[in-house]
Amino acid sequence: MDPDSGAYLKRSHITKIAFFTTLAFSAFYFYKEHRNAQNARMKMAVKKDSSTVIMASLPREDKETSLRKKKKKKTIYITFDDGPNKGTKNVLDIINDEKIPATLFVIGEHVYGSKLQADVYDSVRNSAYVELANHSFTHAHNKFAKFYSVPGGVVNDFKRCADSLTLSSNIVRTPGRNIWRLNDIKQTDNHLSKDAADALQKNGYIVMGWDLEWHFNDKLQAIQSPELLATQIDSMFVHNRTKTTDHLVLLAHDQVYSNAKDSSSLRNLVSKLKGKDEYDFAFINSYPGIEKMPLGDSSLLKK
Ligand SMILES: [Zn+2]
Repeated sequence: MDPDSGAYLKRSHITKIAFFTTLAFSAFYFYKEHRNAQNARMKMAVKKDSSTVIMASLPREDKETSLRKKKKKKTIYITFDDGPNKGTKNVLDIINDEKIPATLFVIGEHVYGSKLQADVYDSVRNSAYVELANHSFTHAHNKFAKFYSVPGGVVNDFKRCADSLTLSSNIVRTPGRNIWRLNDIKQTDNHLSKDAADALQKNGYIVMGWDLEWHFNDKLQAIQSPELLATQIDSMFVHNRTKTTDHLVLLAHDQVYSNAKDSSSLRNLVSKLKGKDEYDFAFINSYPGIEKMPLGDSSLLKK
């Protein structure tokens, strides 16, 4: 055997080992680099849409709550005129049961109309869900043109109601007229009532009209079904037809709800509106632009 042949074989063997080792290390290095790049790309994708990743990992119920919070709330002010009368007790029961705030524009004369009405008025005063406001003392005896032709007489009639019922609110609603007198909103549906409306505002009263009415017929039954009224409310918000965007004042009348059918319609409407996530309810005294007056301080009303 050639003595060199062993050395040659040894050298050739070492060269082969070195070659394969380098190859193996190179392959491992490229594999590692490839994995690192892949991981970096995945991390970037997660960062880019982290909200989707978080939402996807939330249970279904939490996801819905989270989406709901993002929606902007719209406020509905439910108001009832002309109480206390035969329908007031049902209105009060529904408001208390449903725990929604409502503003009752009351008529001074009606409180003294009967023992029953005086008692209902006491219950109304004690409800945490009722805000009381002024709908005049006489309701113009329903002779509106004559009433509004004497602005001083109109102011006195509201003042008489506020004094006799010791109302702490300066918010009023004019009988038979949709009149608005706030800082930024001035509207009179009948120009012959304009001077009387201005006189009320000059004397420190806030005159609150309405955006939508739940009408009633001459048998004192509601005209719109609760389904139709809820649709009308949705539509007014969608088409921005309210005096103030995202705020809707609804006018209803106590006397309509003295019967069982219309009472259940009222309950039905309230539960429909409560079921819509975007709607909130509030007292008129929190309507945008209402000047807050300390409760019980009627001396602030200008004489
Ligand atoms: Zn009225």
